[in-house]
Order: sequence, then C-alpha cells, then structure tokens
Amino acid sequence: MTVQPIRLFGDPSLRTVAEPVTAFDRELRGLVKSLMATMRAGAGRAGLSAPQIGVPLRVLVYEFDGSSGHLVNPRLELSERRIVADEACLSAPGLWWPLERSYMVTARGRDMFGKPVTVRALGVLARVLQHEADHLDGVLLADRLPAEERARFLQAASS
Ligand SMILES: [Zn+2]
Repeated sequence: MTVQPIRLFGDPSLRTVAEPVTAFDRELRGLVKSLMATMRAGAGRAGLSAPQIGVPLRVLVYEFDGSSGHLVNPRLELSERRIVADEACLSAPGLWWPLERSYMVTARGRDMFGKPVTVRALGVLARVLQHEADHLDGVLLADRLPAEERARFLQAASS
C-alpha cells in the first residue's frame, strides 16, 4: 500500500493502451491499494489510473464528495447531455482547462475480486470517470481539446 510517483506528461506509459485485467489476484489488490494511497496522498485528488503510476492495466480509482471506489476493466456509457467545466490532470500539475464532457456516466466493470460492479455518476464524478477511463486508452486531456487550445496546453505543460 505504498504511495507511488505519478508519471508526468511526456512519459511513454501515459501513451500506452492498457491491457485488460485477467487475474483477480493479490497483485491486483495491491495495485488498487497503491492507487488509492497515491490518490489520497495529495489534496484535491479525485481520481487516478494505473498507467499514471506506470502499470499498463485497465484499473482506475476515484474519490469525490464522499463517493470512492475502484473499477477494473471499466466500460463507460455516456449521456448525450454534455457540459463544459474546468478539468485538470495529476500528470500535468497546475494546469486547469475548460473541457466539454458528458454530464452523466454509467460505468460497468469489476471490483478487485472479479465481482461485477456498476457506478452511476453525474457532474464532477462523471467527469473524473471519463478522464481516468481515457488514461486507460492512452488518451490525455490535451487530446480532447480543440486544436488551438491543444497547442496552448502543450506549450504550458512543457514549460
Ligand atoms: Zn489525468
């Protein structure tokens, strides 16, 4: 249950498409604990994905406003209603960017024991789940921005 360093923008592990989990074993439970501990090690952290600590597996954790948990091999169903709100990424510290996302999400996956779980979320938590699920596909916040803003984001992230 150790706190891990978070990989930063430019690290190749953030660009890797993560593999589905097939073994719901002790190692996986250790990974979930590490993700939780790392997320909770900093103030205002609402989510974290395994690729962000260099583990190429489809696992994410979340915590916002009293709701917390983890999802293994998540699949997201997105609402058509979308809203714009500021969003940040622990892999690009200090940058907040307005981004349009679905307002509601139904996430289906498994827990660390392999049991099916469904998480329904709206607002900020729905945004967190979309953001972390993107990480599992090697997709970063910058990739969701319009071209011009993306260029500005990349400039800010590398300076
Ligand atoms: Zn992120």
